[in-house]
Amino acid sequence: MSQPQLTQEALAREAALPENLWIQCPYCKQGSYRESLGNAQVCPHCHYGFRITAKKRLSLIATATEEWDADLVTSDPLDFPGYTEKLAAGQAATGLKDSVWTGQATIGGQSCALGIMDPKFMMGSLGTVTGERLTRLFEKATSANLAVVLFCASGGARMQEGIHSLMQMAKVSAAVKAHSNAGLLFISVLTDPTMGGVTASFAMQGDITLAEPHSLIGFAGRRVIEQTINQKLPQNFQRAETLLQSGFIDAVVQRQDQPSYLGDLLALHTAWAVTFDEAW
Ligand SMILES: [Zn+2]
Repeated sequence: MSQPQLTQEALAREAALPENLWIQCPYCKQGSYRESLGNAQVCPHCHYGFRITAKKRLSLIATATEEWDADLVTSDPLDFPGYTEKLAAGQAATGLKDSVWTGQATIGGQSCALGIMDPKFMMGSLGTVTGERLTRLFEKATSANLAVVLFCASGGARMQEGIHSLMQMAKVSAAVKAHSNAGLLFISVLTDPTMGGVTASFAMQGDITLAEPHSLIGFAGRRVIEQTINQKLPQNFQRAETLLQSGFIDAVVQRQDQPSYLGDLLALHTAWAVTFDEAW
């Protein structure tokens, strides 16, 4: 049977429709009217949080901010082919010089040092500038006696910076440890995706580790593991809910609830610290 021909009127109507009205959730695969995701960009069917830029997340989570180290730029240490173009595309997409935003912020009325990795900048990969900004974030928080809240989102190490990228794992971890030794709180919030060297270092070093619903969190990717062990992995492998069940994370918190949830955690620990200091 031949396909019915579209009338001129139907063609005109289709041409008048704005693009991207509908969006498919990468987790539950259901389609939604784009506007129904709301300002927080969350799937109305399963609460999966769509990937958003660091600046967008900042607008959702914090009420007052001061940015730190915004002008740091990578020197492209390996002179890697095509890297400059990728950096330029990431900068245009996010308004950042590299894949993380850092600064001081107020969440739920509580002051803290805040880091937000950006999945729209080379999939939040860990380059030298990302590592340096995160290291300074923890160092400044330690000096200023502030808790750190860090939203992680990363495909892992940045191959265009080779060994320089891997060294950031140890460098940031050392700053996290110094911050911890000063008795200060570090809350890590894992978002989709948190993978590779970031999971293998600071993302998992929080005193409290939270995650957004259905976020992909792991070290090696599913395909690599399936090929190595020659077995099919369950559907929910490396998802936030599975990690909660196995004790890797402390809670799964929906995006809309995060400002009050984080604000409460910060307030509780500030109150505890004051009581503790007075007791001694
Ligand atoms: Zn969904």
